[in-house]
Amino acid sequence: MPELPDVELFKRLVEQHCMGCVIAKAVVADPGSLDGSSPTALQERLKGERLRSCRRHGKVLFIEVASAGALAMHFGTNGSLAYLVRDQQEPPYVRLWLDFADGDRLAYVNPRRIGHVQLVQSSDAFIAGAGLGPDALDPSFDAAAFAAALGERKQAIKSILMDQTRMAGIGNIYADEILFQAKLHPATSANALDTSATRRLFEAVKSVLQTAIDCGAGAENFTDRLPKGFLIPERHAGGRCPRCGTALQADKRGGRTGYFCPDCQPEPRA
Ligand SMILES: [Zn+2]
Repeated sequence: MPELPDVELFKRLVEQHCMGCVIAKAVVADPGSLDGSSPTALQERLKGERLRSCRRHGKVLFIEVASAGALAMHFGTNGSLAYLVRDQQEPPYVRLWLDFADGDRLAYVNPRRIGHVQLVQSSDAFIAGAGLGPDALDPSFDAAAFAAALGERKQAIKSILMDQTRMAGIGNIYADEILFQAKLHPATSANALDTSATRRLFEAVKSVLQTAIDCGAGAENFTDRLPKGFLIPERHAGGRCPRCGTALQADKRGGRTGYFCPDCQPEPRA
């Protein structure tokens, strides 16, 4: 499932190839992948528009166009973007095409059709309206803001890390990695963390996400690029802790399965 590092890679792809390009035509291959507008309305709004900038907030990518607002892209469980030069073979499961005036194309690909594209007035308005918390990698989301987001809650820290209204961008897979690097059990209550554990968790949020981006790794793609000592490549049944070799344990929470090392991340004392 795409998380913050995946979406940051999509953003870089758009920035590298598409900035300043003029949309000759938007082709909606699957109307069900649009939210809030008809294919015709979307095509009319985007035709002739120039791509102005690209912004990521948490797991949402905004492609901002000159006068028609922004396309907000949600990648669901396995969505992605592909950039194709003229006449390059099309990948399967493309739901939306942006065809540029020079013949190149940007494809929104989404095999399972979970996730969608929306035309929004502005990224700021969308973020406020959706109630998203600060982007986890935003420099203004600092140690104090992180401590405030955790609050004095009894809630398990893993659930808070994944709560997009508290901080945006972290899902099940990177939450496991962050907790592993911070040596904290996923069920630890936020209000049981002392100052040094809170600091350690904050630093793990920043360093894990930044390291993944720097390596070009996502949640499920290119995970072999992650440095030695990362949990993600071992996150499966039968996986072992990359630090101590202990068999990883599964942690079921909110319908999702997580993994942790029972030795490196001991259960909190009640
Ligand atoms: Zn371990």
